[in-house]
Amino acid sequence: MADAMGRAFGIGTCGGGPALHIAAMAAGVEMGDEVITTPYSWGQTVACILQAGGVPVFADIDPRTLQIDPRKIEALVTPRTKAIVLVHLFGVPADMDAIMDVARRHNLLVIEDCAQAQGSRYKGKPVGSQGDLACFSIGSGKNLAAGDGGMILCDDRLLYEKALVAGMHPARTYKEVQIPEVREQISNLIYTYRINAFTAALAVKQMDRVEELNGWRRKNAQRLRELLKGVPGIRPLDLPKDLDPAWHIIPWTFVPEDFGGKVTRWQFVKTLQAEGVPIGPGYVGSPIYHRPIFQDKQWIFGKGYPWAASAENAARPYPKGLCPVAEKRCAEQDLIMGGGPWWRDVTPLLEQIAEAFRKVTSDPQKLAEVPN
Ligand SMILES: *Cc1c(COP(=O)(O)O)cnc(C)c1O
Repeated sequence: MADAMGRAFGIGTCGGGPALHIAAMAAGVEMGDEVITTPYSWGQTVACILQAGGVPVFADIDPRTLQIDPRKIEALVTPRTKAIVLVHLFGVPADMDAIMDVARRHNLLVIEDCAQAQGSRYKGKPVGSQGDLACFSIGSGKNLAAGDGGMILCDDRLLYEKALVAGMHPARTYKEVQIPEVREQISNLIYTYRINAFTAALAVKQMDRVEELNGWRRKNAQRLRELLKGVPGIRPLDLPKDLDPAWHIIPWTFVPEDFGGKVTRWQFVKTLQAEGVPIGPGYVGSPIYHRPIFQDKQWIFGKGYPWAASAENAARPYPKGLCPVAEKRCAEQDLIMGGGPWWRDVTPLLEQIAEAFRKVTSDPQKLAEVPN
């Protein structure tokens, strides 16, 4: 994988979550350190910060791409900020050039959560080729599916060795770690996050197919966009041309204005589901900071840690309105449809879906009367 992405080092792990955890440790995140991240993702993007003892600081998303907005990052940097953890959610690439630029100016390390972005491209480059540490999942639901597993890719030997020491068996670390200060840290009081050999073998074989499967995802996403053009209530993302997602999942935007505001997202989704359309009202649910863990500042460390490690973070609020774009997206606009098993020719299914959309939206009055 490292060779395929043009990176110097690769570490197989037992999952994408474990890859992120040891990447955060390798990046030097310690108890109470601040790490800037997105509120709009699968929880593991943010969990790795907590696992390393860091305090997540949330930057809002770009309404166009739904990924962390580089323009929102700079104002959140403090002397306690260590790193940025971003995600390419749904396979849509985050704006890496702008993010790396902020990170370099403030001496921050960048961790990419590429769990949903295997095969996506950003300005022609494969996603996962730019961040200081890029983490992938090869879980059974992901674009490169091999059961359960993950990996970390990086170019810097120090980061590589630190990640090894944080999560790999000493039998491997003694063989590979060369930097004396890192060698001193080798221990068996660590995480056992190594990849299973069978999964690794399967993943290598799956690499032969992933481009073809991603080709179908791209084709199906494009076909569905064309079929749904002009259908009221729903729009595809309007992405900058230099982003080429491999579409792990396909996000759509609900547009209530098309029905004069008289139809809710739930009425829309429920009626389409009744026609057999595989659509859902979103995937993130609510911004991650709305969860009780952040509202109560209590996590599995107990005693209020990692927030309790500094007065600033013990007092850090996670109020409503913190990231208005993500909040609006979750509360009103999110729709998901497609991805998952759409890695083959499903043209007849897409046509049936489009037909169901036309049927359901032909009578907005009836839609507005569906019980909410
Ligand atoms: C799946 C996923 C993970 C976690 O990967 P696992 O292999 O399940 O541990 C992390 N982040 C995102 C965005 C994911 O989709």
